[in-house]
Amino acid sequence: MNKNIVIIGGGIAAVNAIKAIRELDQISDIHLIQNENYYPYYRIRLTKSLFEPLTIDKLMIQKQDWYEQNKVHLYLGREAVAIDTEKNKVSLDNGTELEYDQLLLANGASNAIPKIEGIEKSNVHSIRKLSDIATIRAHVADKHVILCIGGGIQNLEAAWAMCSQGKKVTIAEFQDRLMPRQLDAKASEILQNAVKSNHVQILLNTAITKITGTKEANGAVTKNGRLIECDMVIYSVGIRSNTALYENTPLEINRGVVVDHHMKTKLDNVYAAGDIAEIDGRVGGLWSIAMEQGKIAGYSIAGKEASYSGTVPVTNMNAFHLSIFSIGDIDENSSDHTLVEESPDDSTYQRIFIKNNRIVGAIIIGDPGNNMLIKKFVENKLPLPDIDFTKTTVEDLIQQIKSK
Ligand SMILES: Cc1cc2nc3c(=O)[nH]c(=O)nc-3n(C[C@H](O)[C@H](O)[C@H](O)COP(=O)(O)OP(=O)(O)OC[C@H]3O[C@@H](n4cnc5c(N)ncnc54)[C@H](O)[C@@H]3O)c2cc1C
Repeated sequence: MNKNIVIIGGGIAAVNAIKAIRELDQISDIHLIQNENYYPYYRIRLTKSLFEPLTIDKLMIQKQDWYEQNKVHLYLGREAVAIDTEKNKVSLDNGTELEYDQLLLANGASNAIPKIEGIEKSNVHSIRKLSDIATIRAHVADKHVILCIGGGIQNLEAAWAMCSQGKKVTIAEFQDRLMPRQLDAKASEILQNAVKSNHVQILLNTAITKITGTKEANGAVTKNGRLIECDMVIYSVGIRSNTALYENTPLEINRGVVVDHHMKTKLDNVYAAGDIAEIDGRVGGLWSIAMEQGKIAGYSIAGKEASYSGTVPVTNMNAFHLSIFSIGDIDENSSDHTLVEESPDDSTYQRIFIKNNRIVGAIIIGDPGNNMLIKKFVENKLPLPDIDFTKTTVEDLIQQIKSK
């Protein structure tokens, strides 16, 4: 049957949904509404390549032809401004109305704006879109002292990029260590030392309460009254799903649009995937999660039985002369054994978390050569050889699983 499928938002969730739909259905019309002027692109590269010549051609997830070959009607630079779930209609900002048989909400999230006095000043930035990079680049040349609010992966990458440009950088983090969700205490300490050795100042347990200056920021004040000098601010303190569009609809909204394991909302013909979707009380907020959820939503739309069963979180960061890889569950209290190996100069650190004879998580700082192997074992829950883990080193374990 020829259906009209409308997708709001053009990120990775939308692209993977289209791929899945087209595996099973080459006939239905697919309409993709994207409010940025660009074809869907690798958003995760924005902070990884802040000062590299980032043209959209290099960033596109799929080339232009792919959309033509897959018969996708693209509405680039157009915003969905209303949906009518009774009449099954989406209205765009230019007055166009699109009727749908099935609707996929894939319009992602925005960066959360911290409640800080002065956050609206003109040289305070946050990175979510390609246009944000252009804005920062256009204004950074005469800025010398950058304050990064938030010590998560995105801001660490931004801090590293700024530091590589010779800027003086301070990172202010609310928590007591960097990347606490991805690293254990020792790995955080190694990262912290690497950051400091690149002359970046780190302020932990620090809440910024005010950004000073008239139109432009010229400093910041912490909760304890400490003054921090800066002439540009970049913040990254989490995300908020873009749910505003759905507020006056029967859809269930909590943190995101609530979906079941088929990525279906409360309404039978409306699905959601990626950073807009909330499943089991959680919004994913990760690229790999959006990829998988997009695929499941696409299959569900095309009528194939498919169920989302979770995605193992993976983090890769190359910054401050460190390669950091973290995967899966890194809570030592919930694992049966952990194997640890570290070099005396802190240039390498490896920790493998084992539960029920499976690798459930790992932190690797240094040589990334075995990361893909470990990822395969974690994601596929592969059983380990019969080993006495109390007498095994990380190196022994890697050798044994390599030969499996
Ligand atoms: C700088 C940065 C670095 C990141 N690094 C990592 C990383 O290293 N690892 C990782 O796992 N994740 C990372 N992430 C998170 C990851 O990028 C997201 O989880 C992922 O992009 C979510 O994909 P999505 O398709 O759900 O939504 P999005 O990528 O947000 O795409 C949704 C699109 O919909 C558009 N849209 C919104 N509202 C409308 C509307 N009303 N009408 C039309 N279009 C609309 C948006 O403008 C956007 O283009 C990073 C994110 C950022 C911003």
